[in-house]
Amino acid sequence: MPTKSQELFAKARLLMPGGVNSPVRAFRAVGGEPIFMASGKGAMMTDVDGRSYIDYVLSWGPLILGHAHPEVVEALERAAELGTSFGACTPGEVELAERIVEAYPSVERVRLVNSGTEATLSALRLARAATRRDKILKFEGCYHGHSDSLLVKAGSGVATLGLPDSPGVPRALAELTVTVPFNDTVALEEAFRVHRHELAAAIVEPVVGNMGCVPPRQGFLEKLRALTHEQGTVLIFDEVMTGFRIAYGGAQQLYKIDPDMTTLGKVIGGGLPVGAYGGKARFMDLVAPAGPVYQAGTLSGNPLAMAAGLKTLEVLRRPGIYERLDSLTSKLTNGLIAESARLGVALTVNRVGSMFTAFFTPDPVSDYASAKKADTAAYGLFFGSLLEAGVYFPPSQFEAAFVSTSHSEGDVAATLQAANFAFSGLRP
Ligand SMILES: *Cc1c(COP(=O)(O)O)cnc(C)c1O
Repeated sequence: MPTKSQELFAKARLLMPGGVNSPVRAFRAVGGEPIFMASGKGAMMTDVDGRSYIDYVLSWGPLILGHAHPEVVEALERAAELGTSFGACTPGEVELAERIVEAYPSVERVRLVNSGTEATLSALRLARAATRRDKILKFEGCYHGHSDSLLVKAGSGVATLGLPDSPGVPRALAELTVTVPFNDTVALEEAFRVHRHELAAAIVEPVVGNMGCVPPRQGFLEKLRALTHEQGTVLIFDEVMTGFRIAYGGAQQLYKIDPDMTTLGKVIGGGLPVGAYGGKARFMDLVAPAGPVYQAGTLSGNPLAMAAGLKTLEVLRRPGIYERLDSLTSKLTNGLIAESARLGVALTVNRVGSMFTAFFTPDPVSDYASAKKADTAAYGLFFGSLLEAGVYFPPSQFEAAFVSTSHSEGDVAATLQAANFAFSGLRP
């Protein structure tokens, strides 16, 4: 008898490309078929066949409070009753913008959009307009959404599928994108030497999440800031994943860097679709209608999304939240390191705050090339074993996992027990 998930996937494949609306959901990188979810509560989610999982994907980052947080649900109910969208100005937009500007001193003005992709593509257009230059610099394995200019050596689903670029991206556009290995200051200096007065923007995930979690080496972001400053290149911190996640003020607070522009998403929508781009007023005041750079959105700043985002940020401002996320996540990652070592499984765990990846390789992972050395077959087995035990890790080696404020010490203990069993099956 097929499961309900199998029945749904068989039908979905006829209706949607690959049966999904976003590629990594299809489980191709880990084998097997995707599971359809029916509900979520706190750290748990339950599939259509009634099986429950401790969730470390959390909608790929947004659900930092866990599923269906009661205060977020209540805020959404109240907002829905007042009308879901007006296409006119509403108070929630002003409030969310204020929260973002308060938390990110580098952001003087902000524009709200509907996704991370929209945020980064709009930030690039603005940087190109402000500098009157066309080239941009990005880092190998960093993913900034699926806009044409940024689908060059991108991580995330693209890394998972092993597509170097995407067909359909015009060569002439891709040629304007310069790529450099992450954490490589020598290659970075060389790129700035070669392209110096031509680079409109340098965009970076300050802590990479989309080739798995890879933190910046000491001095790397500082060097990037210095070079962009010298050359008049707009430095864009893509904090769609790290913003309000690794610290309330994101990577820029943690590493004390002052970027020119910042993109946000994921957590700021509290599980609803929101993105944002912001930065120094001298750039943002070029955006329409203040200036000539066009960008608009029918549902941008809609009251439902604002309500979920605002409530999420309100809860995150309560004392001790990030300290607890940090200590709980380190318990989990320290446990993974200890168990794998005890059982002789080669594992490298990277973590910043409540964001982490367990790479199946004995070597440090500091860039795309070293991430790619991870044993994806071993990860697939590990993933499958955890899933069987009711623990849902990302269905790809090259994605970050997350812990929410709803996860408990008990969840971590149960996860480590499942991981211990999974490692036993992998020992050499
Ligand atoms: C998720 C992500 C994006 C894209 O956001 P979407 O909402 O999926 O379009 C861009 N940049 C980073 C760093 C991300 O993690």
